[in-house]
Amino acid sequence: MSSALFEKIEMPGVKNIIVVASGKGGVGKSTVAANLAVSLTRQGLTTALVDADLYGPSIPMMFGVQNQKPSGIVTDGKEKILPVEKFGVKLLSIGFYMPAGQSLIWRGPMASNGLTQLFRDTEWGEIDYMIVDFPPGTGDIQLTTIQKLNLTGAIIVTTPQEIALSDARKAAAMFTKPDLNVPILGVVENMSWFTPVSHPDEKYFIFGKGGGEKLAREFNTPLLGQIPLVLEIGDVSDRGTTIYNQPDKEVIKAFDNISNAIY
Ligand code: ADP
Repeated sequence: MSSALFEKIEMPGVKNIIVVASGKGGVGKSTVAANLAVSLTRQGLTTALVDADLYGPSIPMMFGVQNQKPSGIVTDGKEKILPVEKFGVKLLSIGFYMPAGQSLIWRGPMASNGLTQLFRDTEWGEIDYMIVDFPPGTGDIQLTTIQKLNLTGAIIVTTPQEIALSDARKAAAMFTKPDLNVPILGVVENMSWFTPVSHPDEKYFIFGKGGGEKLAREFNTPLLGQIPLVLEIGDVSDRGTTIYNQPDKEVIKAFDNISNAIY
């Protein structure tokens, strides 16, 4: 196999690259990636968010920029992509290049090449933290992308129940494979509990309890946060504003704690 296949993607102005990964879709990986990026920006850091989720790119919708297209610029004779900017975060998504309402049917090598181009052919400027919303799962596309990026570390998102955990465990194990050796910065447990408005002091553990902590212990990494199931999170995501524009201060604090823990 040619070594060029695993050549590192050079992004000289990007200081840290953190992948947000999960074993399967629908656990809140994009929600965590988006709010982590906004939280880091609010702490005064320059931040980029790359939506590499080939199977369900949702970042454009979460930021309300699904009708925008990144523009181009010519630098040193090369044509480069200029990311879309929203809430101070430089955004790039595979979704900007997909026809509305359609899914991508790229096969493995084509998908890996598409992702590589997204990172390499963009004019990022100076970035303290690049957050990557990674495709769920542990296939070839994920492996190749990990090999090509100079990763600072990975954050694993899971919901608390055992079935989600077994998939999240596989994702975490992929990063710790000896030939990849990417540090796991921590685990975020999402949809940890639900508190009804009528019973503000109650926590209902709808999807079980303790899963995030168990996974963190197994991989000797911190549990960075537990995000409750909050109806507004889905609501603001659909309306194109991140959770920072919703009233649940506890949730905002949880994301700020996560960003504080990683920089
Ligand atoms: P993934 O990236 O893992 O596929 P998403 O972040 O797209 O998952 O989340 C899936 C759906 O669940 C979205 O509609 C999102 O708004 C919603 N969601 C995620 N986390 C929460 C939460 N803590 N409370 C309520 N809804 C949530």
